[in-house]
Amino acid sequence: FLSLPLQAKMSRPVQARRLEGIDKNIWVEFVKLAATYSKVNLGQGFPDFPAPDFLQEALRRALGGENHMLHQYTRAFGHPPLVKVLAQFFEKLLGRELDPMTNVMVTVGAYQALFCCFQAFVDEGDEVIIIEPFFDCYEPMVKMAGGTPVFVPLRPKAPKDGKLMSSADWQLDPAELASKFSARTKAIVLNSPNNPLGKVFSQGELELIAELCVKHDVLCISDEVYEWLVYDGRQHIRIASLPGMWDRTVVIGSAGKTFSATGWKVGWTVGPDRLLQHLRTVHQNSVYHCATMAQEAVAQGFQRELTLYGKPDSYFVQLPRELQQKRDLLVQSLVAVGMKPIIPEGTYFLVADISEFKSDVPDVPNSDEPYDYRFAKWMIKNKGLAAIPLSAFYSEAHRSSHTNFIRFCFAKEEATLKAANDILQKWKQEKTS
Ligand code: PMP
Repeated sequence: FLSLPLQAKMSRPVQARRLEGIDKNIWVEFVKLAATYSKVNLGQGFPDFPAPDFLQEALRRALGGENHMLHQYTRAFGHPPLVKVLAQFFEKLLGRELDPMTNVMVTVGAYQALFCCFQAFVDEGDEVIIIEPFFDCYEPMVKMAGGTPVFVPLRPKAPKDGKLMSSADWQLDPAELASKFSARTKAIVLNSPNNPLGKVFSQGELELIAELCVKHDVLCISDEVYEWLVYDGRQHIRIASLPGMWDRTVVIGSAGKTFSATGWKVGWTVGPDRLLQHLRTVHQNSVYHCATMAQEAVAQGFQRELTLYGKPDSYFVQLPRELQQKRDLLVQSLVAVGMKPIIPEGTYFLVADISEFKSDVPDVPNSDEPYDYRFAKWMIKNKGLAAIPLSAFYSEAHRSSHTNFIRFCFAKEEATLKAANDILQKWKQEKTS
């Protein structure tokens, strides 16, 4: 043993095959760029305003209270007070009885809920339908599970009378969607309200998806992390409540998005035991457990919301009201500089058309970097304003045909949105002078 050289380096390849082609990630690059150059960061999706007082107080109470066991492990599949209140809450939303122990599982953010779903349901060769543009981790997660992502686009229809486009103008082509379902299809991922567009799928669109799921006996992984963030009186419809869908749907939610506390990383899944039992297997054998203290505080937050359900003081009523105003502020600022925002019906994201800005951004000879990436980097470095290129939310194969848009996050303090407005106004003056 002692005769081995001290510096014996490994020479064999170490990367597992399942990581091939998924090692590049937009967030690593853009989070770093935004941190280095931006004065105003409307890139990554998180609020810069504080989580509500009642949630912060709940955490303080949990930390300073008598129950020192909150510092220890709790039930692996969800802290009992949290799964109980989630079951009560979702009974109301889905109109069916739920067993907190078998129909609800708590996860480390919605991210881990998604990971559990793909690992639990997708086998080598299985196809998973993903609607483009999509929250970017769906594709690598399907691939890591050995599955094949099959993409179907939301296609924009130009609005009449020169009006601004709405996220509702981006729609699935029913025949195209139907053509993606086959005997190989195991699941479809639905994300309504949708990140990045802010689209809130209509009853008709959800019925179409549901009909195809039932016809082809396909699962639905329903990412509803922005369920409370819908605007202009629109309604978020839960696909699990449509006929035939409860039995084949896993509903995914996030306390991070729901209570403006993304760093807490508390998420959940709701669904039939028949499906959730397999999520429990993945959870048990991967992270096993989520922070007890955060689960306790989120449970108290939900308890409050259950009492105030539908009332004006409910955070789930107030937050979308405030965000709608922030959305409208950002829309005005972007229109002023000549970008064409697509008005989101939900989420805290807004996609804007930047096709008129090609002359602002210097061409990079021999670069195959898409225009929206170049534009977003240029804007961060030269204007101090951070946003995310939309093509990052498309598959590799379709990326090059969606390079005229960038995504902004408007879950920001008024001061941040004002600072963004100042940058855009100054930019506008420079353009016109
Ligand atoms: N799904 C979507 C559509 C998201 O936008 C995000 C966060 N950006 C997540 C899931 C992950 O949520 P969490 O922070 O709770 O893990």
